Amino acid sequence: MSYRAPVADIAFALKYAAGFKAALAEGLYGDLDEATVDSVLEEAGRFAADVIAPLNRVGDKFGTPFKDGNVTTPPGWKQAYTSWAAAGWNGLAAPAEFGGQDLPQAVNAACIEMWNAASMAFGIGPVLTIAAIDALHAYGSDELKQRYLGKLVSGEWMGTMQLTEPQAGSDVGALRTRAAPAADGSYRITGSKIFITYGEHDLTSNIIHFVLARLPDAPPGTKGISLFLVPKFLPDGTRNDVRAHSVEHKLGIHASPTCTMVYGDKGGAVGFLVGEKHKGMAAMFTMMNRARLAVGLSGVAIAERATQQALAYARERKQGSAGAIVHYPDVKRMLLTMRALTAAARAICYATAVAIDRSLREKTEAARQAAHERASLLTPVAKAFSTDIGIEVASLGVQVHGGMGYVEETGAAQHYRDARIAAIYEGTNGIQALDLVTRKVPLEGGETVALYVDELRRTVQAVKASNAPALGHTGAQLTEAVDSLDRATQWLLAQKGSQAALAGATPYLRLFGNAAGGCMLAEQALAALRDSADGAARVALARFFAENVAVQASGLERSVTEGAASILGAQAALAE
Ligand SMILES: Cc1cc2nc3c(=O)[nH]c(=O)nc-3n(C[C@H](O)[C@H](O)[C@H](O)COP(=O)(O)OP(=O)(O)OC[C@H]3O[C@@H](n4cnc5c(N)ncnc54)[C@H](O)[C@@H]3O)c2cc1C
Repeated sequence: MSYRAPVADIAFALKYAAGFKAALAEGLYGDLDEATVDSVLEEAGRFAADVIAPLNRVGDKFGTPFKDGNVTTPPGWKQAYTSWAAAGWNGLAAPAEFGGQDLPQAVNAACIEMWNAASMAFGIGPVLTIAAIDALHAYGSDELKQRYLGKLVSGEWMGTMQLTEPQAGSDVGALRTRAAPAADGSYRITGSKIFITYGEHDLTSNIIHFVLARLPDAPPGTKGISLFLVPKFLPDGTRNDVRAHSVEHKLGIHASPTCTMVYGDKGGAVGFLVGEKHKGMAAMFTMMNRARLAVGLSGVAIAERATQQALAYARERKQGSAGAIVHYPDVKRMLLTMRALTAAARAICYATAVAIDRSLREKTEAARQAAHERASLLTPVAKAFSTDIGIEVASLGVQVHGGMGYVEETGAAQHYRDARIAAIYEGTNGIQALDLVTRKVPLEGGETVALYVDELRRTVQAVKASNAPALGHTGAQLTEAVDSLDRATQWLLAQKGSQAALAGATPYLRLFGNAAGGCMLAEQALAALRDSADGAARVALARFFAENVAVQASGLERSVTEGAASILGAQAALAE
């Protein structure tokens, strides 16, 4: 089924739920205006729907055949990528001094959603290049920036991100790839990496690998990791000593090549240090945070795609007395759940992008720092909540199709298969929850999260003050959800990273997403009641979310604060 970019919904969520309109009005983005943003979104939507989306099925079937160290991408893939890069989409939010357009990360986030909705296997490739640009720009030497940034920004070359090794997955500190200093100031890299997205392909003439490795004098663990830029082809045009050894066969995103990479068959690949020795994790975190938001957006994307497809099917499929199945309450429930969860995840991701923009563009250091903390707090939620939603919504999409969802013909099954990876890569969702609970909630002694909860409360007050009958019990249900989030947060802060806190991390992240998502949908509904002639759908969605999803908050709160004993003390239930 085709994809229609929901540009009006995207623009509305960006402006009202994520605070982009207010940021524009404050002058955060200089003289950028709404009309320009709208036309960028329109154009991106057209490109995604017309050029990328038709390749999604082809990519799923063709995969990425591997022969003699080379990967062949599916028919049409290279032309689509080349025209996508030529249109300037890769450098949308990249620095102007290296050929980018310096547009807001928030606008780029909306576009990333559309590329991924059109095809997740296509969308994930450029995400890594965009993340690499940020890390190189922030940490690279002037020489490396001059040599590589221009071509990464234009998309003439693509980047990869290489952490994972067989013994080092979530535990990045266990990695063993080595880097030895060479006489000319560069390094020689030896070792291997697994599961590397777009590690090898035929889309671009060069591939720039960003590789984590250890120097000979490195301390153990993550404090002894350095980041190296390792080009497939060296500046003098010779082939570097790095190759793809194989490509994985996997559940979904078949057109995204997932490669095992080997370094140093001939003595060591030439690598260039990015940032300081042993401090590679700081640079990699810059890259990972961008990529984590982008992966969250891919969750939104697949949810949107699955929802469009399920709704179209439900309007057509006739069963029983009601005619089309869309009229049955249970099918309506599924479709509304899909729509509401998608909209909530979208709002959270866009709000994270606006926080990133503020962290880069606010006028004072204090305001930039506060925005940085807000972005840090929201990033694990954007990643994990949205990708969980991607899977749940794609699963509901299969269910709405009945048997036709389980067979491959309709494409609903592909969305479900594709969605699954997003909860695993860029740090599993379990690791995101740990990050939220052990590092982000305690930021500034809990002040960052407290400020955020206060903001949610202000939204709830505004909903109550609106007295809008169409919002039903939204105000009351969101009050309870935010109260639950507040109490669970206080409990976690008092736990100071105990085993009990870790046991409750995943339900806490979900509770956070439900409360925040519910409030953001309510913000949109209030804006729709105020400013928009066709606000009924947004109001209905906010109400549905509050009365059917946000109400899970009290159960989630109890899982966080009372569930640990039955997890930590339940060895018997897991014994062989
Ligand atoms: C298709 C695909 C593409 C990928 N692309 C890339 C890429 O481009 N670059 C790259 O570097 N890597 C990539 N990866 C690797 C990916 O990031 C890892 O698979 C992921 O981080 C998880 O690591 P792991 O597979 O070793 O799982 P493990 O770390 O073994 O985790 C297994 C389970 O244990 C849990 N777990 C592990 N440690 C803890 C802990 N301390 N506390 C609580 N729970 C824990 C996890 O949440 C998970 O549920 C890719 C993987 C796939 C499948």
